[in-house]
Amino acid sequence: MAGLFSALATDAVPFRNPCGHPTLPVDDVDGEWLQRIWEGLDPAQLWDVHAHLIGTGDSGSGCWIAPSLSQWWHPVEFARKRAILNGACVDPNAIDAKEIDRAYVRRLVQLADAFPPGARWLLFAFDEAFDATGERRPDWTTFHVPDGYARAIAGERPDRFGWVASIHPCRSDALERLDRAIAGGALAMKWLPSSMAIDLRDARLRPFYDRLANARLPLIVHCGEEHAVPGAGRQDLGNPLLLREPLRHGVRVIAAHCASLGLALDLDLPRPRPAQAFDLFARLMDEAEWRELLLGDVSALFQFNRRPEVWRTVLRRQDWHGRLLHGSDYPLPGVIPLVRLPQLVRAGVLEEAHVAPLGALRNHHPLMFDLALKRLARWQGDALGVSIFATARHFAPPRPALPPEPRAPEQ
Ligand SMILES: [Zn+2]
Repeated sequence: MAGLFSALATDAVPFRNPCGHPTLPVDDVDGEWLQRIWEGLDPAQLWDVHAHLIGTGDSGSGCWIAPSLSQWWHPVEFARKRAILNGACVDPNAIDAKEIDRAYVRRLVQLADAFPPGARWLLFAFDEAFDATGERRPDWTTFHVPDGYARAIAGERPDRFGWVASIHPCRSDALERLDRAIAGGALAMKWLPSSMAIDLRDARLRPFYDRLANARLPLIVHCGEEHAVPGAGRQDLGNPLLLREPLRHGVRVIAAHCASLGLALDLDLPRPRPAQAFDLFARLMDEAEWRELLLGDVSALFQFNRRPEVWRTVLRRQDWHGRLLHGSDYPLPGVIPLVRLPQLVRAGVLEEAHVAPLGALRNHHPLMFDLALKRLARWQGDALGVSIFATARHFAPPRPALPPEPRAPEQ
């Protein structure tokens, strides 16, 4: 959810999502044009591997949003929450009626059902921050989505949703929770180290890594700078080079957003200097030992705060495409200022002719817009390969983490 902070500081772009009905086709969007988006794609393989659940807990879900996001005297946080809820088309009436949790899910289901059968979304839980002593830190927590809620919502519509657990590894019961998540069909584990205060190098994380590796459960890690979820504010923990630690333990890692935002210290230098986080991710992608383990998701990549160099590199590096996964970072594709189509045209990665239909599509169906944009982006003829949109294959049904209990001898 990176980039929201700076997007809201600019008022020169249209702001509100008009939240049109997602039923397709949409006026102003030519059916043939839309058909092209689907050429070569198998909807049954199209799993969006990066979608957020958000709630206030008004349905008893246990979800939580930091109080500062609801207080007008914290204007930036207040605007950020409103922008996210508008991006998710949660209307102000639902806010007044304390119906935010359900309204959020309702819109997401509507959007999902406008896709061909088979397409699915991985819904993220989001754990609280804990400090190094294992103490819960609500003061560092921006929002919280319990595993049980993500699992329950996915369970309501298994044809459309799977769920991703989020467990802070410094919880005293982290391993038991992990076993429960695996037994409960979690498809991946999600961490945001800078916000949740997770140091990937901490030796105490090793049993957690071993369990993830054994269960072949991918670890989705937000790397690079993160502004939308400040949390613990430890940007240094989002350094992509720290991913070598879980990789060394055999964990399959998905670097969220390909670490495409901001700077991180190049810790490989004798005297570490700031480098583009994306360049450090690229270095890891090119290290032979992680070829089978390191993946990246392409969510949020085309947001205005990424460098054209990032767009061009991801389009050009066809050799990476088998290891890149489609993701939307929902609800952010519905937050209008975050993707600026004229800027993409100027950078040479989008044809002018696509701007009007993409804009019209976004007003009705931000998820279809996000997919269409990724399918249409080009750099000197190179496009994102169809393998990027065939993500289901990366999520083999997880094996049980532990061998089954030996059966008691019969009497
Ligand atoms: Zn995200």
